[in-house]
This record gives sequence, structure tokens and C-alpha cells, in this order.
Amino acid sequence: MVFLDQVRDACAFPFVVTSDARTIAEELAQPVHAIPPESGLHVFDPAQNLWCRAVDLRWLADPTERDTLVAAVYRVRGQRPTELELVPFTANAHTHLGLFRTADHPARLEFSAS
Ligand SMILES: [Zn+2]
Repeated sequence: MVFLDQVRDACAFPFVVTSDARTIAEELAQPVHAIPPESGLHVFDPAQNLWCRAVDLRWLADPTERDTLVAAVYRVRGQRPTELELVPFTANAHTHLGLFRTADHPARLEFSAS
């Protein structure tokens, strides 16, 4: 994912990817999943020409690194709509970073407890 590499280069600290491409069945098995499942940015299904557009990164414990990540996402994305979700409070703490499949989709910043 070129976008992820660009954000990683802008941050200059390592990312730990905890989740990336999922089949539709794997998406459905998630405790919280996209509805419909094929709309999830993690989903890849070559038969439907769907490609993974998101990763989950291990939660950054350092608030300065989190700030750097968010700033890098907004700087690197240009006009591309991103989905940035901060999930800080559970054993599944992570940052979800995705690029929407269509350029006219509104960008989203979300906070989630799960
Ligand atoms: Zn995710």
C-alpha cells in the first residue's frame, strides 16, 4: 500500500501492522464489521475487483508519535479521502488507516471503543 509507505516515511518511526487484508468471511467474523461487509476497506475480493485499502496499526503509546501520525496522514493524503479511526481503550487498541475507494467519498475521522 503506497499510501501507508508514504505515511510511514513521513513519520520516521516503525509501524506495527496488526491487521490488513480480509476476505468477506474474515470481515464478518470481526466483532465490529462493516455493513455491508464488502464496504469495509480491509476487504479484498479479487472476483469483485475489491482490493484492501486499509490497515490497522498497533496503538501508539507515545502521544507525540500519535500526533506525528495524524499530521502525516493529513499531509500525505492530498485530496484523497482517508478513514482514520482511533481505538485507544481496549485490548484491541489500534489505529485504523484507510483510503476510500472513490475520490468523492468524504474523509472520516472516528473514535471508537472497540
Ligand atoms: Zn481497520
